[in-house]
Amino acid sequence: MICPRCDSDAAELLVKAPVENAWEVYLCDACNFTWRSTESEEITDPARYDRRFKIDPLSIPDLPVIPPIPKLVK
Ligand SMILES: [Zn+2]
Repeated sequence: MICPRCDSDAAELLVKAPVENAWEVYLCDACNFTWRSTESEEITDPARYDRRFKIDPLSIPDLPVIPPIPKLVK
């Protein structure tokens, strides 16, 4: 499955509703984006996902950690 946020093919089904297949939750292994099947197409459809919030999976290792992790004090 294609991830709406990073467009990688790393998204998979995470969990299904316990009753009547009411919803499914998906998780992207590349960018950790999660979404429900019941959300609007602006969230679930990679072509309609807001371009301002897209992530290039290649840039993920270079993203800053917030808040920064301080050095260990001995
Ligand atoms: Zn992703």
